[in-house]
Amino acid sequence: MKYCVNEKGYFGEFGGAFIPEMLYPNIKELQDNYLGIIEDPEFRKEFYYLLRHYAGRPSPLYFAGRLSDYYGTRIFLKREDLNHTGAHKINNTIGQILIARRLGKSRIIAETGAGQHGVATATVCALMGLKCIVYMGRLDVERQAPNVLRMKMLGAEVIPVESGNMTLKDATNEAIRDWINNPSDTYYLIGSVVGPHPYPDLVMRLQSVISEEMKKQLLEQTGSENPDCIIACVGGGSNAAGSFYHYLDDPDVRLIAVEAAGKGINTGETAATIAAGLPGIIHGSKTMLMQNNDGQITEPYSVSAGLDYPGIGPLFAWLNQTGRVQFEHATDDEALQAAFRLMRLEGIIPALEPAHALAVLEKIKFPPNNRVVVILSGRGDKDMSAYIKYAGHTLIPEKIS
Ligand SMILES: *Cc1c(COP(=O)(O)O)cnc(C)c1O
Repeated sequence: MKYCVNEKGYFGEFGGAFIPEMLYPNIKELQDNYLGIIEDPEFRKEFYYLLRHYAGRPSPLYFAGRLSDYYGTRIFLKREDLNHTGAHKINNTIGQILIARRLGKSRIIAETGAGQHGVATATVCALMGLKCIVYMGRLDVERQAPNVLRMKMLGAEVIPVESGNMTLKDATNEAIRDWINNPSDTYYLIGSVVGPHPYPDLVMRLQSVISEEMKKQLLEQTGSENPDCIIACVGGGSNAAGSFYHYLDDPDVRLIAVEAAGKGINTGETAATIAAGLPGIIHGSKTMLMQNNDGQITEPYSVSAGLDYPGIGPLFAWLNQTGRVQFEHATDDEALQAAFRLMRLEGIIPALEPAHALAVLEKIKFPPNNRVVVILSGRGDKDMSAYIKYAGHTLIPEKIS
């Protein structure tokens, strides 16, 4: 494969493992073992069993007829919103909890921003009877009260982080500190294709079940494994990486990644890392990130909490540089419009994150015969307060009904 990680843990010039020396043994243990574990038939049997009977996979690939009529092309939705816990994140946490158990770890740590990854981690820890500690910036703890409650109900300990801006990157620093202090019994469960090598490659491989299923489903429904285009939103990039994985080396399949522009890429209130960022090091890897002139990481902004991340997986920094993936962005308003359109046309309330992917359908005109797959990474229950805030506003266009 052309677009895979090299033996040093790099995707082109991006990636690597920039970590404190004290973490080398932990990272090395994972680097040396992850491929062997995830390719082991026993692991695969258990992973696929849980994906099927616990998470509810395969997720449907649904031909959205009314949406297709509206946009004048053939649109399929990959329904990750129908998974247990409401998004694709469960694919990754199931896989990593099995790896942690294989490595003999009894204590799981994670960081979370909006709380979605924290909930997915707390879920699998309950499933396996493992101790779960989730670091979360104190501001996020206040903003995301329902997810904090969910994590606690599932038995996790949520530790509010008071340092820095009290958001995601501060929670990440605290999780890394914990790992340094508890190297032997603790597994660090990262939630996207970010972090030091091997996490980006590991998480991509676990999420690649999405494109594995798509190939079969497209073949069955359209007579060809390949769509013309796949559109996915990117925060860190895990749902996009998993959906693109089995198509990366096939140049006939157009791949579009959509970042959250927030209020607009030039407003300073954005989370569009490729559009507004520069190369730098964040979370243990070299990638693109949003920073000020002094190289300090700037606080991202998006209406969608899951896309509100100042970096992007190193794979995507490279896929952008090589031109293999086309990057687009959508503002808060554009994403909300697209979400309301999906609700009215298909009876599906999407999460705000994939609403950004849907918004691209407004900007790019696809030929009528194209088969376009949009990854519906999660459902909208968690976003009700944002929808309520905008409902009644001119954002719900009457003409849609
Ligand atoms: C967390 C989340 C995302 C963003 O994460 P990626 O790693 O970029 O996939 C997207 N959609 C939903 C529903 C999420 O919960």
